[in-house]
Amino acid sequence: MGVDARAKRLAAGFGPGERAARRAMRRALTGADDYGRVRNLPAEDATTKLSPQLHFGTISARELEALLLERETEGALELRRQIAWRDFWLNVIGRFPANRDLEHDERMRGMRWRRSARDLDAWKRGRTGVPWIDAGMRQLLAQGWMHNRVRMAVASYLTKNLLLDWRHGEAHFMRHLLDGDEAQNNGNWQWAGSVGADAQPYFRIFNPVRQQQRFDPDGIYVRRWLPELAELPDRHLAAPWEAPGPVLAEAGIELGSEYPEPLVDLGESRAEAISRFRDQRDRNGSAD
Ligand SMILES: Cc1cc2nc3c(=O)[nH]c(=O)nc-3n(C[C@H](O)[C@H](O)[C@H](O)COP(=O)(O)OP(=O)(O)OC[C@H]3O[C@@H](n4cnc5c(N)ncnc54)[C@H](O)[C@@H]3O)c2cc1C
Repeated sequence: MGVDARAKRLAAGFGPGERAARRAMRRALTGADDYGRVRNLPAEDATTKLSPQLHFGTISARELEALLLERETEGALELRRQIAWRDFWLNVIGRFPANRDLEHDERMRGMRWRRSARDLDAWKRGRTGVPWIDAGMRQLLAQGWMHNRVRMAVASYLTKNLLLDWRHGEAHFMRHLLDGDEAQNNGNWQWAGSVGADAQPYFRIFNPVRQQQRFDPDGIYVRRWLPELAELPDRHLAAPWEAPGPVLAEAGIELGSEYPEPLVDLGESRAEAISRFRDQRDRNGSAD
């Protein structure tokens, strides 16, 4: 009844319902021992993908934890650590319900965010000109899911490089994620935007070029989502704007046509973000 056909198709990929969820949990347990090795490699697509099931309650986090405890391997321990984040964010929003609208870190309230409908739209469509970001954003639109390693990068890019309000990203994720969950999404967005509950006393900006080189060195994930870059050699795939003209031509790419020019310079926007965030904190007192 009134169920959007696209949502139905996306959900089918995850197998809705308890029976499918239990099958997915058994698969996750089998793969758990190797989880630590593969969990940061989006091309392997080897995380559990249990997040929609946990969100809808078709499996129980407690049961999963109990079964993982029996395994006693490093991989199972690492997976339990990730599941603990889920409890952490549930606790944070439960204790601080104002976080739904406001930055958990009071010093960051009233931050001067940029406004750019053009940049926000390009980010949403996976047309920023930065392959690691665009691949993730296109995966989100196509599958209603995105790998965690890339979620962190696209959130950092939106809030630091584009300096756009984290609430835009939070809303877009809630609209498209099958695992979209207020506690998890809000907590992670605030964390990635350096405005939330965060134990790290330094300012975090993911470098999408280095992230891609490190976590997708063969470009398998990026080429999967950006077929227009398929012919670009590995060494230029993370930063096509730095590729020599003849290399781009050979790969059939004209920047600004098949694939966009970058919206912003990564180095300059990083420096601007550091200065703007620092000013904001200084204005409101106590540095960490
Ligand atoms: C900006 C941003 C927004 C996010 N929004 C959501 C959201 O709306 N809903 C959601 O469930 N997760 C969210 N996450 C957390 C994480 O990305 C997903 O839980 C994970 O990618 C789901 O894939 P998986 O089940 O294969 O994870 P696995 O790596 O297999 O991890 C197993 C389970 O641990 C939990 N988990 C892992 N990482 C996190 C984390 N960082 N925070 C909380 N729980 C975690 C999830 O329940 C996950 O299903 C977000 C992360 C970021 C950076």
